[in-house]
Amino acid sequence: MLKENLENVQNEILKACKKANRNPEEVTLIAVSKTKPLEDIEELMTYGVQEYGENKVQELVDKYERISSPVNWHLIGHLQTNKVKYIVDKVKLIHSVDSLHLAKEINKEAAKKNVIVNILIQVNVANEDTKFGIACEEVYDFIENIKEMEHICVKGLMTIAPFVEEAEENRCHFKKLYQLSLDIKSKNYDNIDMSVLSMGMTNDYKVAIEEGATMVRVGTGIFGERNYNL
Ligand SMILES: *Cc1c(COP(=O)(O)O)cnc(C)c1O
Repeated sequence: MLKENLENVQNEILKACKKANRNPEEVTLIAVSKTKPLEDIEELMTYGVQEYGENKVQELVDKYERISSPVNWHLIGHLQTNKVKYIVDKVKLIHSVDSLHLAKEINKEAAKKNVIVNILIQVNVANEDTKFGIACEEVYDFIENIKEMEHICVKGLMTIAPFVEEAEENRCHFKKLYQLSLDIKSKNYDNIDMSVLSMGMTNDYKVAIEEGATMVRVGTGIFGERNYNL
């Protein structure tokens, strides 16, 4: 089942790229393995999947330690400052940097371990009360504050779009994030790279790709429904 699901998602990505006249090499699929057993990841690895997303520090560290050969880990969920120290040297990218307080902690812990951590700024593009993320209007202030942090490298922006019935409803939010990344890019800040746009999940990754996503985070579409009661 994993193989068929993966192939289906990969095909849909190709189709969306074709439709939008984009090079498929610009789009990276992150397999969101949260709540799923290590065996599923090990199977996907045999099909060539190297990028995995987790939303909990504990689960990421646990899988990191048990996996048979190294893969690239993406922390995609809200990160508490007291847990930063456990992952700064284990992740390829933190997608969910949503406060200055958190950025400072990452910078501090990364300095201690002498690493540079790649991060994305999480933007609450639809202004939802229930979502973490920095408001669009506040992103420039945020950048001014973190651009001097030597152990952080900003790679781009991330958003979690609203939960909607129709993916089309999220197109405007994806457009807005893309536009924001272009605006930031045009300012040519030192140390701020805007090459990554992490947006789109199982329900809306095709629309996200049409609007410029370079990373899509797909869980259910690959692994099937999650059971949080296990
Ligand atoms: C769980 C999760 C996903 C994947 O969601 P699906 O709808 O299962 O594809 C993507 N991004 C974040 C931040 C998540 O927490």
